[in-house]
Amino acid sequence: MKDSDRLIYEKAYQIYTKDGASKVYDYANKLGLDYKYCDPCEADTPVISQTTCLVCGSENPTDLQEA
Ligand SMILES: [Zn+2]
Repeated sequence: MKDSDRLIYEKAYQIYTKDGASKVYDYANKLGLDYKYCDPCEADTPVISQTTCLVCGSENPTDLQEA
């Protein structure tokens, strides 16, 4: 993960613990992040570094072919 992505992830984690997942979506939308399907979340979630779910932090390598 790039340093810039790590900062986004840490910020998103703070938002998640304080305000909940819906605010993480708002934050991701403001940044213009892509959405991809996340198995653990069972939903389309914002991703950083192409494959890392911003909500739960899971890697979703099945989406790599789109990169
Ligand atoms: Zn997830």
